[in-house]
Amino acid sequence: MSSFFFAMNRLRALFTSSQKKKLEAGLSQTKQSFFAKLGTALVGKSKVDDDLLDELEEVLIRSDVGVATTLKIIEALEKRVAKDKFLGTDALGQIMQEEITHILAYSNPEQPQDFSAALPHKPQVVMVVGVNGVGKTTTIGKLAHHFHQAGKKVVLGAADTFRAGAIDQLQIWADRVGVPLVKQAMGSDPASVAFDTLQSAVAQQADIVFIDTAGRLHNKVNLMNELSKVKRVMEKVVPEAPHEVLLVLDGSTGQNAFEQAKQFTAATAVNALAITKLDGTAKGGVVMGISDQFQIPVKYIGVGEGMEDLQLFDNTTFIETLFNQTA
Ligand code: GDP
Ligand code: GDP
Ligand code: MG
Repeated sequence: MSSFFFAMNRLRALFTSSQKKKLEAGLSQTKQSFFAKLGTALVGKSKVDDDLLDELEEVLIRSDVGVATTLKIIEALEKRVAKDKFLGTDALGQIMQEEITHILAYSNPEQPQDFSAALPHKPQVVMVVGVNGVGKTTTIGKLAHHFHQAGKKVVLGAADTFRAGAIDQLQIWADRVGVPLVKQAMGSDPASVAFDTLQSAVAQQADIVFIDTAGRLHNKVNLMNELSKVKRVMEKVVPEAPHEVLLVLDGSTGQNAFEQAKQFTAATAVNALAITKLDGTAKGGVVMGISDQFQIPVKYIGVGEGMEDLQLFDNTTFIETLFNQTA
């Protein structure tokens, strides 16, 4: 237990105050809406009883936490209340924060909290998937920036050869960040682009490679075939590539993001999540539900359109920011 808290404190120290401010700003709508609903539920109540727990359940569900995770949280609160029958509502916020943090601690174990942390493979190959418009290309641009700033050698691959403008959009990011991009003409075979990208990355002794892909999920079988083809071709250059299949989800779509996570995890071997557009939405609670329901770590969150507006996700900091009333 004590080593857990020691590790947590160390991680928190790494989280700079400017990142914290960005997270606070990004989550402000979620926070305001959540506490407004919570405040309404608490009006005229002095202790935590069954009625209040029922209302709380509704608040969490309406905050896009999702039914299953909400029930887990309510169950945990019920247990706490059973132990302390006269639990006052003033302590409720603190207890909720503790219980939610506890529940979510299991879904994100041992996450590096620093872009300069050693990577498990060289090159580490990350294939980025998700439906059109969720923020894949933007997330790759931001990730390229953060890893580049942390001293990693980054190579990008424009394997979204399907959509007009997709290659140019990634080229703009590559130029802005100052990292090489491997591309072919629009309409060319994504697997071929991925192959070239990995060859180039190996030749350059790159540390990390991000492969952009076209977001098509009209047909699960097609997606699976296409991604397994890309994988098969990449393995010719880097055995076991891709090491990471990063699914990007648009947090502002709330329950739709849940749906997409379900479909993609059923069709592909997704092993990391990025949740974007948490700024400008009150649906940030979706991060709690997705992080709890899919046994896949949320690695990154997007809190704006700029280069800096991406953070390594940490449950404790996220929940703390959501509950911190002084901000
Ligand atoms: P893709 O189709 O999945 O590659 O999505 P794009 O990367 O092209 O992003 C679609 C739109 O979402 C763009 O206008 C981005 O600027 C925007 N976007 C991406 N991430 C974020 C974010 O974290 N916050 C906000 N506000 N916008 C974002
Ligand atoms: P299939 O054509 O669907 O059976 O898939 P393949 O595994 O043969 O390759 C898919 C694509 O990846 C091809 O269209 C090639 O463009 C590319 N590719 C595969 N192997 C190589 C290779 O050794 N060199 C290059 N440059 N591209 C390759
Ligand atoms: Mg794109």
